Amino acid sequence: MPTSKTLLYDALIIGAGINGCCSAYLLNQAGLRVALVDKEGIASGGSGAAGAFISPKISKAGDLKEIMGVAHAEALEFYSSHFPRFTLRKALLHIANNPQESDKLDCFKKETALHHSPIDEPLKSLLSSEASKDTYIFFEDGAVVDAQGVCSAMAEGIDFYRFKAENPLYRNDVWEVGTLRAKHLILSIGAYPKLLPIDYVGLRGIWGHRIDIRTTTHIPSIIHHHVSISPTNKEGIVAIGATHDVHFAPFSNQDYDYEEGRRTLLQKASKTLDLKDVAVVKDYTGLRSGSNDYLPMLGRLVNAEATLEKYPNIRHGQTVVASEFVYYPNLTMINGSGGYGFVLAPYLAKRLKHYLVDAQPYDFLLSPSRFFQRWAKRKKNQSYTTTP
Ligand SMILES: Cc1cc2nc3c(=O)[nH]c(=O)nc-3n(C[C@H](O)[C@H](O)[C@H](O)COP(=O)(O)OP(=O)(O)OC[C@H]3O[C@@H](n4cnc5c(N)ncnc54)[C@H](O)[C@@H]3O)c2cc1C
Repeated sequence: MPTSKTLLYDALIIGAGINGCCSAYLLNQAGLRVALVDKEGIASGGSGAAGAFISPKISKAGDLKEIMGVAHAEALEFYSSHFPRFTLRKALLHIANNPQESDKLDCFKKETALHHSPIDEPLKSLLSSEASKDTYIFFEDGAVVDAQGVCSAMAEGIDFYRFKAENPLYRNDVWEVGTLRAKHLILSIGAYPKLLPIDYVGLRGIWGHRIDIRTTTHIPSIIHHHVSISPTNKEGIVAIGATHDVHFAPFSNQDYDYEEGRRTLLQKASKTLDLKDVAVVKDYTGLRSGSNDYLPMLGRLVNAEATLEKYPNIRHGQTVVASEFVYYPNLTMINGSGGYGFVLAPYLAKRLKHYLVDAQPYDFLLSPSRFFQRWAKRKKNQSYTTTP
């Protein structure tokens, strides 16, 4: 391990999930001296639980659809060219699982530039009668990545420190976290407790469970229906995931019921096809970190206390342009990718690199500070307090 006392990094990244690892990889490639910190290890949070499908998001027209479309194309290209060893390219079948989804899918099919075709016969013969009747889209080109493998490969050659980061401090023009020092601090800690008083950043954790199984049924393609089912990999494993549980909170003392989670997943998979001789070989659980408006986050963080001191009337409805807010210096957040962290990470990390290295602005639509003004107004009758 490097002797941290003597090292001043260009960028210190807290959180070694897909967002932290991808950022570390691209910043390191751009020539920055990067340190990566995680309290558990590489891909130990939501990223370690992910099925890591690189699938298009089926959504109606709007900002989210635009961003996800670009992110999906960039991700397919990025993983395939930089990490082919951890990227499995396979056809992808998406079947609607309710009438609203069916409408969305019909609109998406009319507008998408992605190549799609009628479902092929070997795959069709596997489907249950329910799945065969539902609206679907079949892409000849999809992908799934090995979450742990790709994160570890990205972090290779980068100084990694395992500890829980607390109370980051900016003084003498550098950020200090424990004994580490860096010019830029990047927070990519997913749905874990915030490290600074940034209550305005609207995030929620959504618990998910996926399983690896062995089955004598060979799955040739990626299938998304009531759950996602991976193609059979070269070790003979099929991944099934994931549950979406907004009520389970891992930071409370609740116990998670693994048996119940397995039952739910297998029962949902059985609506799509008949999996024979199933044995569950591994469970994965973790939190997705979703933003309140479903858009991902990349950008600087407002120092709420200093901004409200400068513009106290924001609380009473005064509109202030975002460039006038007081920001923490050299501090950037990447977060809020919800169930699409692996799709979005190359997109976000590339724009982080453009911002930090090439001084190119990022889109304010992505900024975590987009939530600040509305949050401040809601606080007008309360004394000012935030919780880190
Ligand atoms: C079951 C499941 C299935 C999913 N399937 C897919 C999928 O198929 N495709 C897809 O694109 N996405 C999928 N996702 C979503 C994707 O996994 C997330 O969007 C992504 O993992 C978010 O990555 P992250 O780096 O932001 O956060 P995380 O992976 O949660 O990483 C945050 C890291 O920060 C560390 N940390 C937190 N606080 C501190 C601290 N104080 N000090 C040091 N370290 C700290 C944690 O230990 C953790 O490792 C899935 C998620 C789940 C849970």
